[in-house]
Amino acid sequence: MDQKITITMSENLKPKPADESSLGFGRIFTDHMFVMDYAEDKGWYDPRIEPYSPISIDPSSMILHYGQAIFEGMKAYRTTDGSVVLFRPIENMRRINVSNNRMVIPQIDPEYMVKCVKALVELEKDWVPSSTGTSLYIRPFIFATDTFLGVRPSKTYKFMVILSPSGPYYPQGLDPVKIYVEQEYVRAVVGGTGFAKTPGNYAASLASQAKAYESGYVQVLWLDGVERKYIEEVGSMNVFFVIDGKLVTPSLDGSTLPGITRKTVIELARSWGIDVEERRISIDEVFTKALDGRVSEVFGSGTAAVISPVGELFWNNKKVIFNDNKIGNLSQKLYSTITGIQYGLIPDEFNWIEKVV
Ligand SMILES: *Cc1c(COP(=O)(O)O)cnc(C)c1O
Repeated sequence: MDQKITITMSENLKPKPADESSLGFGRIFTDHMFVMDYAEDKGWYDPRIEPYSPISIDPSSMILHYGQAIFEGMKAYRTTDGSVVLFRPIENMRRINVSNNRMVIPQIDPEYMVKCVKALVELEKDWVPSSTGTSLYIRPFIFATDTFLGVRPSKTYKFMVILSPSGPYYPQGLDPVKIYVEQEYVRAVVGGTGFAKTPGNYAASLASQAKAYESGYVQVLWLDGVERKYIEEVGSMNVFFVIDGKLVTPSLDGSTLPGITRKTVIELARSWGIDVEERRISIDEVFTKALDGRVSEVFGSGTAAVISPVGELFWNNKKVIFNDNKIGNLSQKLYSTITGIQYGLIPDEFNWIEKVV
């Protein structure tokens, strides 16, 4: 697939945010967006970049009723020499096809999607912020557009990409977070949609999130949906434990999202000679070993935060504190290395960086 992208320039460009320290996340959008349509007889067609604007959709569009959709989350970084780069973009695009497959949305050539994202980011390069920790967040998404109330896969779709300049995830530095272990609700079960990046998973997590907030926690830790025993993820991040000096993370058994940051953490740790285990970990094991002083670090991994240290877990009316509520050595080293590669401060030995401009 290599269709030419049509570009329609916006006639009134918005002012760029003057103060990069108050960008926040996901509130400001750039001047243009990428759009491509799908129809059964045409395949994916009419790839185009056009002025960012509201879109009109029919009230009977299938997405509004049955949620047939997927999304991705990635970032463009401004490196120290002023270039704009992406981090492992092909991984996100391959994951789109994994999500699409589960949601019965037609496949798209991953290389072509990288090309489309690059074309949009290049056009919007002046929107990529440059202060420490900032980035241009990239949100590709696909949704069902048939105007029909019957339940079946749609025959038409829209693929869009929007861009949002975002501030540092940790304006105050990497402070460990307090996590609530969810025992009432579950995020996903094997055979469900847990491994796909699909909006319904997020909708289903809101009740738990709200409950955790009320109790003074910022995120929830999800347990498996069958035995309510094995650890799956924290919020919308994968999770790692340092147990007896080994790095341990839940295996990908179908209900956990296969994070690209997770994959990066595993590859880096192995390259440093650290033992990495991908296996089932019960919450009981973590609490028992933590009380014996054998769990030295806990952290979440995801594109938004990169590494998010966990200082406290609350489960069954018991609390456990990790590493004195301070960021651990391995968490810090992973954070510095991954962000160092992304911002061009550390050589990219693994070829993870793709230059846009
Ligand atoms: C996106 C996501 C992650 C993290 O994936 P990355 O590719 O590392 O950003 C983890 N869990 C869930 C539920 C997610 O949606």
